[in-house]
Amino acid sequence: MSEEVKCLIIGSGPAGYTAAIYASRADLKPVLYQGLQPGGQLTISTEVENFPGYPEGVQGPQMMEDLKKQAVRFGTDDRFGMITEVDLSSRPFKAIADDGNQISAKTIIIATGASAKWLGLESENKFNGFGVSACATCDGFFYKGHDVAVIGGGDTACEEALYLSKLCNKVFLVHRRDELRASKALQHNIFKTKNIIIEWNHVLKEITGDKTVNGVTLENVNNKEIKSIPVEGVFIAIGHNPNSELFKGQLELTDSGYIKTKPDSTKTSVDGVFAAGDVQDNVFRQAVTAAGSGCMAAIEAEKFLMQNEN
Ligand code: NAP
Repeated sequence: MSEEVKCLIIGSGPAGYTAAIYASRADLKPVLYQGLQPGGQLTISTEVENFPGYPEGVQGPQMMEDLKKQAVRFGTDDRFGMITEVDLSSRPFKAIADDGNQISAKTIIIATGASAKWLGLESENKFNGFGVSACATCDGFFYKGHDVAVIGGGDTACEEALYLSKLCNKVFLVHRRDELRASKALQHNIFKTKNIIIEWNHVLKEITGDKTVNGVTLENVNNKEIKSIPVEGVFIAIGHNPNSELFKGQLELTDSGYIKTKPDSTKTSVDGVFAAGDVQDNVFRQAVTAAGSGCMAAIEAEKFLMQNEN
């Protein structure tokens, strides 16, 4: 099948669905491909307490379901599937989906987000899915009543640790420095949670076990002392990489792979291609800022179409 669309949106997190709400209301009849993780990173998070408009907080998956419904209500063509190839060398742009569908798009909004980073240890790879995870809400249940370790000191690591503290016996939060990067509110919760033990100034050297995990080996970064802690699960929460692989060589990227956008804009290095959310933001990376940039991308796409439609 092949089709022509005014606006193709790639990605289904807060940026993608907000772009879709605005683009559909502006009659751009957007087609949205959800990508590898429908609903984006918030579908694997728990309580979202800082998105405006939810005074009691909201579960991440619920918020994404609401955003999707809102986009579909205004006519977004929301599709399960991935865009596997793009050609941005001339307009209309070309994109191919994993079902073979060939799309010719007048504008593209990229909202492909970011994915969890791994430490790169051999043992981390060996036990991935068998005691090693990057998602407490997905896998925490398996460690009910057991001891686990969380690696990292940012918001993600603290949220994961707090979530696990409700299910697990002990949670060891392993951080390479002597202060957390996470927000003060999260730090406060961490410090007052009795079964979270912080291993300051330690890095993970190895995950041990036979078929499944039975412990972690940590190194003190100051005196290089090694110690082992028995745990059944290890949650890696050390940050994210932008999902920009598809656009390498076609759009300008930063050294760390984020899509470059013009100041105060979602315009990329190619006219008619816009980027919103975590794939272009290595500073704020919040659901609300992603949603805001999704809105900007749709408005900019609409303006671009008005100026270039004929
Ligand atoms: P992050 O802020 O980049 O934090 C990553 C953490 O992992 C840091 O503590 C870092 O240590 C540590 N780390 C990185 N590489 C490491 C390595 N190789 N070995 C050991 N430790 C390593 O990432 P994030 O926590 O995923 O958060 C990403 C963004 O999303 C942030 O802007 C955050 O505010 C936002 N976020 C917000 C919420 C919320 O508002 N509810 C929830 C989740 C995420 P150092 O501190 O020493 O650098």
